[in-house]
Amino acid sequence: MRISSIVLVLLLLASPAVAAAAEQSVLLPGTPYATEVFVSRGAAGPAALVTGGAHGNEPAGALAAEKIAQLAASRGTLIVIPRLNKLALAAHLRTLPEIGDINRAYPGRPDGTPAEQIAAAVEALVRQYGVTLVIDLHEARTFHRLDHTSLGQMLLFAANDRSADLALAAIDHVNGLIAEPVKKFTFGAHPIPGSAAYYAGNTLGLAAFTVETSGEQAIEERAAQHVAIVRFLLGREGVVAE
Ligand SMILES: [Zn+2]
Repeated sequence: MRISSIVLVLLLLASPAVAAAAEQSVLLPGTPYATEVFVSRGAAGPAALVTGGAHGNEPAGALAAEKIAQLAASRGTLIVIPRLNKLALAAHLRTLPEIGDINRAYPGRPDGTPAEQIAAAVEALVRQYGVTLVIDLHEARTFHRLDHTSLGQMLLFAANDRSADLALAAIDHVNGLIAEPVKKFTFGAHPIPGSAAYYAGNTLGLAAFTVETSGEQAIEERAAQHVAIVRFLLGREGVVAE
């Protein structure tokens, strides 16, 4: 009885789902753009940043990031900002005119537009924690396989070898979980200049990705695809158990 209890506790301790809760802080505290940051620290190791909700009309990324924020880092540090543009999410709009487009504002400016201030605050976190992996969660109108002008179901990878290798492996992984051919992810596009992944990958040389799901699926399905890709990449980085 006693031994089995100890085994159970050891199993629970080994499970990422029940490890210590993440520390919570606030990005841009005291401003209208204040938003929660969740930091989970494991043993010494790499740091990964996951962001959602940069665009307020792409709610699956924010939903997925909220789930990712519940994960505990087994090694290194997991930093999650689920709702980068809270005001736009509340308005169900890509952004608000007075804020600007966060995902075209990197590396940002601390005294710039609100979008530039948010981008600069994220950029400061990347430097503060020595982040090596950046994943930004987005959504697109439709399926890339049906309409090549849409980025839906694409994993955009930064223009460096590590990002390309990880993207191929992550697409293989998530496509193994998706039955319908049209919903399978496509490899082959890079992040857009000014985006978080472009800056992190092309300027800082990090492994960096923009995940784009197709909005023509239920939000739970889109969020599950985001979570599957993020968990895979975090596992490869060694931040959460694979
Ligand atoms: Zn977007």
